[in-house]
Amino acid sequence: MKQLPRPAATLVLLRDSAAGPEVFMLQRSQNAAFVAGAFVFPGGALDEGDGGERMRARVLGLDDAEANARLNLPTGAIAYYVGAARECFEEAGILLAVDEHGAAPEPAHIARLAREREALNAGTLGFLELLERERLCIPADRMAYLSHWITAPGRTRRYTTRFFVARAPAGQDGAHDDAETVASAWIRPQAALDRNANGEIELVFPTRSSLVDLARFATAAEAFEHAAGTQADIEVNAACWAVGNDGKKLFRRADPAYAEIHWCDPDETGETCYDIVPGVAKRLDPLVTRITAPNPGAMTGPGTNAYLVGDDELAVIDPGPDIPAHVDALLAAGKGRIRWILATHTHTDHSPAARALQTATGAQVIGRAAPAGNNQDRGFAPQRQPTDGERLQLGTVTLRAIATPGHASNHLCYLLEQTGMLFTGDHVMQGSTVVINPPDGNMRTYLDSLERLLSEDFAVFAPGHGYLIGTPAKEVRKLIRHRLARESKVVRALAQLGRAMPEELVRAVYDDVQERLHPVALRSLAAHLDKLAQDGRARCIDGAWGLVDAP
Ligand SMILES: [Zn+2]
Repeated sequence: MKQLPRPAATLVLLRDSAAGPEVFMLQRSQNAAFVAGAFVFPGGALDEGDGGERMRARVLGLDDAEANARLNLPTGAIAYYVGAARECFEEAGILLAVDEHGAAPEPAHIARLAREREALNAGTLGFLELLERERLCIPADRMAYLSHWITAPGRTRRYTTRFFVARAPAGQDGAHDDAETVASAWIRPQAALDRNANGEIELVFPTRSSLVDLARFATAAEAFEHAAGTQADIEVNAACWAVGNDGKKLFRRADPAYAEIHWCDPDETGETCYDIVPGVAKRLDPLVTRITAPNPGAMTGPGTNAYLVGDDELAVIDPGPDIPAHVDALLAAGKGRIRWILATHTHTDHSPAARALQTATGAQVIGRAAPAGNNQDRGFAPQRQPTDGERLQLGTVTLRAIATPGHASNHLCYLLEQTGMLFTGDHVMQGSTVVINPPDGNMRTYLDSLERLLSEDFAVFAPGHGYLIGTPAKEVRKLIRHRLARESKVVRALAQLGRAMPEELVRAVYDDVQERLHPVALRSLAAHLDKLAQDGRARCIDGAWGLVDAP
């Protein structure tokens, strides 16, 4: 049976030292039931007492709505703040507390409470009783939400743990309890990472990842401020298992297949496949199956993705290149149910199979006709050309067309309204950068089309190339940032060089790209320069580019 993760909280305490900020770490006993022997931050499972009205009155500086929003919970988020502070006192002997007016307690008061820790750990005293008796409160505003970790399935104990970071209260050095934990230390994050790399101490992934995060900062205040500024944006890290050519493997959030594995395997069976294998139908969810065409390459990644959408009647989105084996694979997966064929755009890796597929099925062809230019499938003959925002009722599913010119002037994304899956074609790709090739490709409209995707909430992106993409809005913001950063580089190079030919500019602007790719980069550079010209910031005279105010 599937093990459900238990709620837990962890507190990363920071203090300054001459060599930089330090964190408080504990070594768990070899007999511990969870991550035995590893060095960790103080933390553990929530207690029933961490929630509740009376405890709520002991928390200052954060209201319920804000706490729930930060932790992305419908209710009860405050309990995680309390649990983190409680565990920190129980395990590390450091009490993060203020008086009822928010002021730091007297050192003598805190010193007196140190002995209550044993009673707390023995269960003869409750944390709530202690706080009430001593008229102390948890300063939740001094705890910044840092990260969210869910233990991978398959362990006997699983936790859904919220990590917080706080500056250690002055005058409390902390110590392990010699029971659950057998050693403790204040240590610089980088020093802990180095000792882990040398094999001296063991760290589990969430601990190591947090240390990497915190090793960047020069002071405890800087680290805390950074965390406090990003806590509205924390994503869950839920490692997951999947199978494939290299056997059973664990996937983490940074892995390209991570979001797809979660989407395809909501029950965490670990049996979904992490490989993209051309020609092999991959069922993504009850409404969508993907078949990748056998056209892998530098521009197409693993190949062009065709999606079969629906149940009794199917729409094929982006039939792909006209390769007989691929058309056969689509027909086999369609089992006589293909009624509609849609194209996101008419580049030759996306729409040409529409003809063979239509001949075989009689399905209706939907999309926009090919514009002029290279690499266009001029034979694409749509019987229906959707307008922007048009909702296509196709059997039991609804696909809404969203005009997204930029990569191609006739580009449409299609939103499957039943699940929030957006078929992005080449507007957003996974694993490679979208090529903007003028004149049909246009950087300015491309950026506008990206912005447009931010005005709506999508559950997941199903791109024309690569895996499903999770956290769509975050991905779109990243793409916009990436393009604008490149544009800034173009402007800087123009400012520096005065007037320059594209061949000269490309070396300055794409110095991070291998030279053999510079011919492709020249196309993107042209797109950036066209945009700057449209924006009125740059101009071209006799093939040489300069800023408008250049001499
Ligand atoms: Zn394309």
